[in-house]
Amino acid sequence: MNIHEYQAKELLAKFGIAVPAGHAALNAEEAVAAARQLPGPLYVVKAQIHAGGRGKGKFAELPADAKGGVRLAKSIEEVEANAREMLGNTLVTIQTGAAGKQVNRLYITDGVDIAKEYYLSMLVDRKSGRIAMIVSTEGGMDIETVAHDTPEKITTIVIDPATGFMPHHGRSVAFALKLSGDLAKAAQKLSAQLYEAFKALDCAMIEINPLVETMDGRLLVLDAKMSFDSNALYRHPDVEALRDETEEDPMEIEASKHDLAYIKLDGDIGCMVNGAGLAMATMDIIKLNGAFPANFLDVGGGASKEKVTAAFKIILSDPAVKGILVNIFGGIMRCDIIAEGIVAAAKDVNLSVPLVVRLEGTNVQLGKDILANSGLPIIPADDLGDAAKKIVAEVKQAA
Ligand code: GDP
Ligand code: MG
Repeated sequence: MNIHEYQAKELLAKFGIAVPAGHAALNAEEAVAAARQLPGPLYVVKAQIHAGGRGKGKFAELPADAKGGVRLAKSIEEVEANAREMLGNTLVTIQTGAAGKQVNRLYITDGVDIAKEYYLSMLVDRKSGRIAMIVSTEGGMDIETVAHDTPEKITTIVIDPATGFMPHHGRSVAFALKLSGDLAKAAQKLSAQLYEAFKALDCAMIEINPLVETMDGRLLVLDAKMSFDSNALYRHPDVEALRDETEEDPMEIEASKHDLAYIKLDGDIGCMVNGAGLAMATMDIIKLNGAFPANFLDVGGGASKEKVTAAFKIILSDPAVKGILVNIFGGIMRCDIIAEGIVAAAKDVNLSVPLVVRLEGTNVQLGKDILANSGLPIIPADDLGDAAKKIVAEVKQAA
């Protein structure tokens, strides 16, 4: 789960991390009120969307030479004018895709005089299975570009969970950023605080880009992106409350309400499967037969009638779906119960595309009889290969 910059900075401040003062605003009046609470004379008006690259982004509705999603303002009047221009419009950045994201919220912050920009992030490194810090002197830029063009400018520091964050980790960060004196000490303290926050909040990633050295010699977090391990959210109701569903895919939200693991893909064959491994195998075999899956969908071990119905509705709400392949192994659930669920769900949603069902497991014959006697045009399949061939043939024939 992702959150907005202003929320991330509020969370980080609770761990003692220095961020510029700022207030969120939903309209121009709130933006003016927010600016009045700041010292001035420099303000920053920042679009709050779940995507980076806002500064270099473009508003779809504005002329090409209009400013992007992060704007400096030298007076409260300028804050207001920028807020009016940005709110309600669509910001397209390198991370939003061509459709962009509508700006519904701004963050008005105290403007900082920047001496230098750095990059500092923390994530769960899959290779080492540990928390790692990625550090670079090249801040304010797209880190993928830095990694591609000048990989020697990126330092990775892996933290052993048995020792936790040690003073030498902090010194390595300061060294990688080429800092000395008070700024080096500040970098050491900041990285220790970030590690604390990362662990305490079960983060998946914290990215500070840029971390800045100010003209008056302080280290400040100027931009912050945080994402959280969804499987640990139950431990953090306060973090879960920060979720902004308007930033997420509506079908994925609906799926999470029913405890379904759903990810939309680009193909035209909807898949309903139980178990992530079986779901992946099903997607692979669809591809092997020359077609593409429209989604990954794992209904889980106890696929009840309600869950199967919800899954059908989610799959069918995708206009790209031209056929559905159900591949369920009845281990904990019996095949006859699953078959009843499929029949009820297919009737409930007025199924309009071909449906191939492959069932295997306990009471499989009973299950197949229920499907055959349902009066619905359900196409039975005997094994995974047979199922994939049948659904691909059906979809190709209809096209
Ligand atoms: P992003 O484009 O979505 O990553 O948004 P950022 O918050 O990182 O802002 C983009 C850039 O705007 C930064 O790299 C800075 O160069 C600039 N910027 C942001 N805040 C300030 C500020 O307070 N003062 C100055 N001078 N520049 C800022
Ligand atoms: Mg940034």
